Amino acid sequence: MEINLDANATTAVLPQARQAALAAMAADFGNPSSTHIAGLKARAILDEARGAARRVLGVGSGRIVFTSGATEGIQTAVLSALVHARAALRPGAVVRPQLLYGATEHKAVPQALQHWCTVLGLDWPIRAIPVGSDGRHDLAWLKAQAPTAALVCTMAANNETGVISDLDGIAAVLQGSAALWLVDGVQALGKLPLRLAERRIDYAPFSGHKLHAPKGTGLLYVREGAPFTPLQAGGGQESALRAGTENMPGIAALGAVLRALEQGEAFCDAATLADYRARLMAALGEALPGLVFNAPPAACLPTTLNFSVPGVPSRQLLDVFDAAGLRMSGGSACSAGTPEPSPVLCAMGVPAAQAASAVRLSFGAAESAAAIDEACARIRACGQALRAHGALPALAPGRAAPPLLNRFVVEGACCYLVADAASRQCLVIDPLPELTDELLRWVQCRDLKVVAVLDTHSHGDHASSARLLREALDMQQPGEAPADPLGWPADVQRIHLGAMNLTRLAVPGHTLDATAYLLRDAEGGLRCAFVGDTVLPGALGRSDLAQSDAMAYAASLRMLDQAVGRHTLLLPGHDDDDQQACTLAGELRVQPLLRGVLDGTLSDEAFVTRKAQIERDLAPTPYQTLACGARVDGCPPSEPVGLPADRLLALMGAAPAPVLVDVREATEQQMGGLRLPGAGASAEQVPLPELLNALPRWLRLPAGTPVIFYCRSGNRSAQAARALRRLGHANAWSLAGGLALWPRAVAPVGVGAEPLPA
Ligand code: PLP
Repeated sequence: MEINLDANATTAVLPQARQAALAAMAADFGNPSSTHIAGLKARAILDEARGAARRVLGVGSGRIVFTSGATEGIQTAVLSALVHARAALRPGAVVRPQLLYGATEHKAVPQALQHWCTVLGLDWPIRAIPVGSDGRHDLAWLKAQAPTAALVCTMAANNETGVISDLDGIAAVLQGSAALWLVDGVQALGKLPLRLAERRIDYAPFSGHKLHAPKGTGLLYVREGAPFTPLQAGGGQESALRAGTENMPGIAALGAVLRALEQGEAFCDAATLADYRARLMAALGEALPGLVFNAPPAACLPTTLNFSVPGVPSRQLLDVFDAAGLRMSGGSACSAGTPEPSPVLCAMGVPAAQAASAVRLSFGAAESAAAIDEACARIRACGQALRAHGALPALAPGRAAPPLLNRFVVEGACCYLVADAASRQCLVIDPLPELTDELLRWVQCRDLKVVAVLDTHSHGDHASSARLLREALDMQQPGEAPADPLGWPADVQRIHLGAMNLTRLAVPGHTLDATAYLLRDAEGGLRCAFVGDTVLPGALGRSDLAQSDAMAYAASLRMLDQAVGRHTLLLPGHDDDDQQACTLAGELRVQPLLRGVLDGTLSDEAFVTRKAQIERDLAPTPYQTLACGARVDGCPPSEPVGLPADRLLALMGAAPAPVLVDVREATEQQMGGLRLPGAGASAEQVPLPELLNALPRWLRLPAGTPVIFYCRSGNRSAQAARALRRLGHANAWSLAGGLALWPRAVAPVGVGAEPLPA
């Protein structure tokens, strides 16, 4: 059973609303403008729905216009207010009217203000009303600005945090101002009494799909006498306020929802919602030690909780919840695809690291007690999985066995943590400031001792956090000779990590101090080399920086070749295209300069000249950071690797048997597995950050063996498949669409779900 804890993004349609919509598409399909009986029936449905809306919203003599959703309602209100304010402007007025909106408003509001000002040619200041750390508007600021405002937009309750605005306080500071007032009521409907007519609110948009009605439905409240400019003109529907034949199935459904709300059917009362929230808060507190709420729950809608577990990225929490069948989000659905921290939390002054781990849990006002109890049980199970796999401190610390090679990536820059499970020692290479909390938590949760924190070179594009990390770990012992600037301990030839060891090789070129670190096992076998930016997948590190030594670069490459050979995994300092790793053999195929140096056909001088040519005017990386090398790779990162589900099923019975690899995090794997007929149990489990450990093994498979990766959406598995292909195993695939689109008959097994018949 899926449980929607992302109700602020959207909700399932109530059964009575579905029925009403179906009827309006079948027997009652009439056009409400027609004068025959079919039309009259449709008109009655329309009037009933409007009547229910009027009563539920307490609109008094105000008007209700059916719209396609809140975004349309916002546009209509903004357009109406701007047209009015432009007409009211005295000729020659020097002070331009201000347009004010809450700093935590849904982006539809500032975007609409900007858009309609552009369309109408208005060069008026658009300013954000600051909010405090509690998410509430700064009323003193608003009071000072109100006299020159033409429009003030403040939401009733916030979609990301649930913070409830002080509408009476806002009304008080707007007293005497000529400003029109727009209140976005989307998230408040069904959860808070809005008493629209009792307040001097001019416009209030609402959205049907946030309240168990279908998408594409909405309402706009317009106070009696408030200026109005229709967004669309035509056949005069909606009393000419919004032309176009009405969306009757949607309106019928919305009417059914509003009637249910009015009659107390299906929807919970305030006390029940508060009880649900208390249960969820208790479960979260138990499951996620260190959890903090990003807005005080008591000042929020009872249906919304926004929390962070500092040091645990929100992606990690969301993925494990998703695997458990709990749908949550990091914030607004409209911004879910962007890695940026939430502007709402930033406006409230939530520290960036805390905002980066924010999760929004929001349930619908029509949720059942059974679903809430099941959600609590799953949240607790997720907490156990996170502890078991070292993402959270274990109750009995230290038992999660760390993999040898662990990779962390921030905007293409790579950091590695090398851990020896037997001795519980580890070392960190190229730490990044954004990772400090995560790395500390990682080693603490696994009870590891950090024996060294190293940099491969002095980085030009980002700061190393090595010193910060060493200090946080209290690594410098009194009286001990300090390490060199890259962190290598004084008077030491090799760093021991249990039975393994690390040696260093100076490879000046990209920078004067560039160093490669070579990891060997107890038998002296070379496991991999950390090469910084000296060799990148598809590129050589640039050597036109102030700290570069271009003339030394070619000799360094020959030295590296001698030291590691052609097939050792090279782990780069940057990986903008998620290639994971490379080998000299693979890079020789695609990098002519490297080929020229290693086969002796290119002199060191010619290498420097040719390299300088391709490094001239290097564009920044896709993350707008300094590019560390000029990419000359012939293998496009977008190479299609997707394997449709039916082709995967066909391959299951064929020889050689495919290798199936689940690349989701261990916590997700624990919370929900994929069962493939006849082969579910034989799938390997290798989370993407641990892929480096398994790549050499898959590269030794016969060329005809398909290696098929899968994950939740198909993104992580596509990365894995491309990486393996690029390293030389062409028969690497990713399950297209991931588990999310896997045919229902073999759907992922959620926690608590019955096992599916094989
Ligand atoms: N306002 C708020 C507060 C919202 O949460 C949303 C939806 O996310 C909108 C406006 C936009 O609503 P709609 O999807 O109906 O256009």
